[in-house]
Amino acid sequence: MKFRRKPNPNRNHPLHCPYCASEELFPAEESDFAWSCVACLRVFEVLFHGQNAPEHQPEPALSTSEAIARSVAKVKA
Ligand SMILES: [Zn+2]
Repeated sequence: MKFRRKPNPNRNHPLHCPYCASEELFPAEESDFAWSCVACLRVFEVLFHGQNAPEHQPEPALSTSEAIARSVAKVKA
């Protein structure tokens, strides 16, 4: 859930109608996410909600100063 944010209508737009594959799409008045297909006259919405957090994540990287301190400690040991 960490990667999710409020859907943004300006983020992306469909290139093809999901029903008839026509490329003649225009924004529709129903909502900020609605598109109208000229070929089949359907009106549909496309919303991208974001990504779910992955089940396993890599460990966060060390800061530069922490990495240098660890490297120096290894050389001294
Ligand atoms: Zn269509």
